[in-house]
Amino acid sequence: MSTQTVVVVGSSVGGVRTAQALRREGFAGRLVLVGEESAAPYDKPPLSKQYLAGEWQPDRLALLTEEAATALDVELRLGVAAVRLDVAAQQVLLADGGTLDYDHVVIATGATARPSPWRVDSGVHVIRTLSDVDGLRADLAAGGPVVVVGGGVIGAEAAATIRGLGHEVTMVDPLATPLARLVGPEVGRPLEELHRRNGVETRFGVGVEGIEGKAGDLTVALTDGTVLAAATVLVGIGALPNDAWLADSGLLVDNGVVCDRYCRAVDSDRVWAVGDVARWQDPRYPTEVRVEHWTNAVEQGAAVAHNIVHPADLRAYAPLEYVWSDQYHWKMQIVGHASRGARHVTVGDLSAEPTRAAVLYADDDGRLAGAVTVNWPKVTVASRRALGPGIDFEEFVAQVHALPAKAPAQPRAAG
Ligand SMILES: Cc1cc2nc3c(=O)[nH]c(=O)nc-3n(C[C@H](O)[C@H](O)[C@H](O)COP(=O)(O)OP(=O)(O)OC[C@H]3O[C@@H](n4cnc5c(N)ncnc54)[C@H](O)[C@@H]3O)c2cc1C
Repeated sequence: MSTQTVVVVGSSVGGVRTAQALRREGFAGRLVLVGEESAAPYDKPPLSKQYLAGEWQPDRLALLTEEAATALDVELRLGVAAVRLDVAAQQVLLADGGTLDYDHVVIATGATARPSPWRVDSGVHVIRTLSDVDGLRADLAAGGPVVVVGGGVIGAEAAATIRGLGHEVTMVDPLATPLARLVGPEVGRPLEELHRRNGVETRFGVGVEGIEGKAGDLTVALTDGTVLAAATVLVGIGALPNDAWLADSGLLVDNGVVCDRYCRAVDSDRVWAVGDVARWQDPRYPTEVRVEHWTNAVEQGAAVAHNIVHPADLRAYAPLEYVWSDQYHWKMQIVGHASRGARHVTVGDLSAEPTRAAVLYADDDGRLAGAVTVNWPKVTVASRRALGPGIDFEEFVAQVHALPAKAPAQPRAAG
């Protein structure tokens, strides 16, 4: 494949890790990485954590420096968006009028924060990019109370971080508990308690009716008639795949690029997708899935690189689901299918300080389905190992109970 060209569109973790994996797999041809943002490729998870807290500078977020790209023989085309894909001509069209011919193209354009439906001139933010967080931090610097709309991973993490910066924070979500789409109430309720113990006001089960005003002087009207005053509002209500640029490509695009089990677009065997924008047919499920987690972007990139370089040995992509979230002193790790299990057992106490606990989930057949661990990486590792081959649920619970007790680190106080 030394005379071939692979164009990777999207320069965050999915795109960068695909490019690196292509070289690891032995791809020796031309490799181009296209990115809309002019910033050097950077990582997203620290944006709601260390970067928002002001603890890390942008260089700690770097995914691929210019030197590393040169060493890998990757052509970086940053600061220019791909605006069209011509599948028949095998060409990517760029916003600056340029074109890139490809033998294979990998779509890694990720997702965008779902925009706030409540339009005001200033003071309302989302978090997806470095510049989003810079804008939020500029408003936070002026002080005053903060309302966080959305109690998913990004909203809940940002609420914890902003509280740590000393702000009064209220978190609002129409769902019953934080992270409700990822973990059940058995984890969500103690997590809400953790926020409250750290001084965050929580309003779960209540929606937002409207937001008015401007930066420094906003009001957030809730569906129960309450009106909250805020200097700054953060809206964390999910993400939308960046697939609009493919609208006239002829590819099947429906909540992401629809792919087969090899992460190859269903309409073209030269088009692949990875990360938040990919909706692929995981062989274990009846319909295609799209996953917005960091580890998925990395593993899918590796799978696609393998499949491009080894067309005679195509491998279906069926990852073990994994996501983490850091809030206050809680390091949560979620493996497999938490919350969707038929029943669960909690080992340890999620309300104790310091916390070290695991909630283990069984499937309908009495086997381990997934786990949520808090400050207990040993159980995460054991769950990952056990979920591959499968294990009887009771046997796994007994194994976790038998793990040696070791006190977790002391919590850091927020505020
Ligand atoms: C604040 C925040 C915190 C997170 N925390 C966690 C966490 O704790 N744990 C976890 O597992 N996951 C976390 N995630 C999710 C994780 O970061 C994403 O799943 C991951 O970034 C997806 O990578 P990606 O490369 O597919 O997409 P993205 O990271 O969205 O990157 C896509 C890239 O493509 C570029 N692009 C878009 N359109 C075009 C175009 N037309 N042409 C060229 N370039 C384009 C974008 O500018 C961007 O650089 C977090 C996400 C955010 C935003």
